[in-house]
Amino acid sequence: MSFPKIELHVHLEGTIKPQTLLQIARRNDVRLPADTVEGLADLYRFRDFSDFIRTWVLTTNCLRTADDFRQIVVDYAAEAATHGAVYIEGIFSPAERALRGVDWDEIFTGYCDGAQEAFERHGVRVRLTPDITRGFDADLNRKVVEMAVAYAERGVVGVGLGGMEADWPPELYTELFRIAREAGLGSVPHAGETAGAASIRGALEALGADRIRHGIHAVEDPGLLAEIVARGVVLDVCPVSNLRTGVVPSLQEHPLPALVAAGARCSISTDDPAMFDTDLEREYQVAAELGVTPQAAYAAGLAGALCEESVRDELIRIGEQTAWT
Ligand SMILES: [Zn+2]
Repeated sequence: MSFPKIELHVHLEGTIKPQTLLQIARRNDVRLPADTVEGLADLYRFRDFSDFIRTWVLTTNCLRTADDFRQIVVDYAAEAATHGAVYIEGIFSPAERALRGVDWDEIFTGYCDGAQEAFERHGVRVRLTPDITRGFDADLNRKVVEMAVAYAERGVVGVGLGGMEADWPPELYTELFRIAREAGLGSVPHAGETAGAASIRGALEALGADRIRHGIHAVEDPGLLAEIVARGVVLDVCPVSNLRTGVVPSLQEHPLPALVAAGARCSISTDDPAMFDTDLEREYQVAAELGVTPQAAYAAGLAGALCEESVRDELIRIGEQTAWT
């Protein structure tokens, strides 16, 4: 039997199995770079992070309607539930879809409907944290924040920052995160994945990060790591993702054990499970080999979750009722 799991770092567009992606593409009359499951699986073998981003843009382009967005949330909740997931913070990148002409409300309504249906059908609580996209037009990114605020009542709990980290430092997005935080949303940027400690420091200081998505490069800066530990900032670590995008040379060399040894709280997630050929169970196996128990991962997930208090109480109860050994 699976232990209960809290997943805080998963891109809903990256959870779509090749079969479903082909089905959605056909429904919307969109051409994908490959038209078979094998062809898409081939495309999902990335050489590096830039290659991953290019494939991401090509494949996610077929998502067009509220029903597409609703479907991918419900499908992923169903899959994650089989691995024990009880709470998920799902990421999506609305500016990318809006840039391709998809209506903003279509996007947000679809994801929020999906979150509601995920709980009704599969008992998984899903909260949403749309990403601002690094390098995108300032007006598009401002709209992401405005929409996130407008949909807070429907399960949007925070705003993230994704895309090419090395080219677009956190400080460029200070104002947008200020607006989001003043409206009561959490700040959950990606940092310290493909760029170093300075990027994490920027996320903490300029963006008031409540958590850091990845954050693994904190290991290179003992002062920064000590600060993360002292402030109790949770790092949403995705070991297999780091391997697939070439951020770490091997799982044996992953910095997770060093982060945990320093006292950092690390939640465990899949990032883009369909694209990285992973799932929650697999991530937990890897994490256990690297010294993070399911109970420790659950505690870190609970500490980092942006959900309302009533859901937090539920999650606490689930943790207390679990026989962890
Ligand atoms: Zn991510």
